[in-house]
Amino acid sequence: SADDYEKNLNRIDLQEELRESVRNGFAGFHLCYQLQVSGTDYHVRGAEALLRYESPSRGRISPEEFIPLLEQTELIDPVGDWVLATALHQCKCWRKWVPDFHISVNISYIQLRNEMITQKVLDALKKAELSGESLTLEVTESMQLQEYQYFNQIFYSWRRCGIQIAIDDFGTGYSNMLMLKSLPARELKIDRIFIKDINENNKNSKIVSTIIDIAHSMNLRVVAKGIETPEQERLLTQMGCGVLQGFLYAHPLPTQQIPTLLQRDSLTRQLNVVSCLPQQRSVTL
Ligand code: C2E
Ligand code: MG
Repeated sequence: SADDYEKNLNRIDLQEELRESVRNGFAGFHLCYQLQVSGTDYHVRGAEALLRYESPSRGRISPEEFIPLLEQTELIDPVGDWVLATALHQCKCWRKWVPDFHISVNISYIQLRNEMITQKVLDALKKAELSGESLTLEVTESMQLQEYQYFNQIFYSWRRCGIQIAIDDFGTGYSNMLMLKSLPARELKIDRIFIKDINENNKNSKIVSTIIDIAHSMNLRVVAKGIETPEQERLLTQMGCGVLQGFLYAHPLPTQQIPTLLQRDSLTRQLNVVSCLPQQRSVTL
């Protein structure tokens, strides 16, 4: 149809722009960071690095749109390397204010298929002068089941160096339980879809509390993402959720806005996390 044709043309144009950006030293790409806080005392634990792309012709493009294109074209390999190096560098810088600042980076299963990936991650850590414990790599359930064995070799090599694996979007894919059983994961991230109406929907709150119990029995850390209200926070902390992430604490922010927050905190021991939040939230470090 004319509509499909138009969409395809748009996609091809965007792919070309992405390719050009990579050639031009990743022009148009930048990272935002979303703070994560401890569910017990609201310490800032670290941040998740989130990739952004500004197209020269149509402005800001959603990651939901450009990341699949990066994956299809395998541009995700160089871009993923750049994301990791940039995020680790920032993590190292921010340790000046929060000595055990921790960085989480999303990694696509396409990147995992690159035979150099194990070493590339270790080299990036070395270059940033950080130990493996400072890094969590978030993988999603889009991995293919038959590939678990191959991926596990990579994950175990990383685990030996302290790098942690998180299962992202937990609960949304049919293979999640198998992932839980098969992967040497250290963290489980509960998808926003369950958090969104956790206070109104009894089924969701039961699912979340069961996920948290299963995770704890397997010695996994639980991160709830997409927390937007104090009511959601109250329920999640009651359920024993270890780490909290969402607009309630901080939106994903550009690099330059993070140090001000961390510095301010180190001066006052109180962090009004983000002044641009819809609801202001006070978090103690
Ligand atoms: P994700 O890993 O699940 O990241 C969390 C997403 O939830 C982010 O969307 C974030 O902006 C959004 N979010 C966080 N808190 C809230 C909240 O309280 N309410 C709502 N409504 N949303 C919240 P974003 O930045 O659009 O990223 C979308 C996805 O793109 C990410 O989901 C991740 O899967 C992927 N992505 C982002 N950066 C990278 C990257 O560097 N590499 C790869 N492979 N994927 C990435
Ligand atoms: Mg993630």
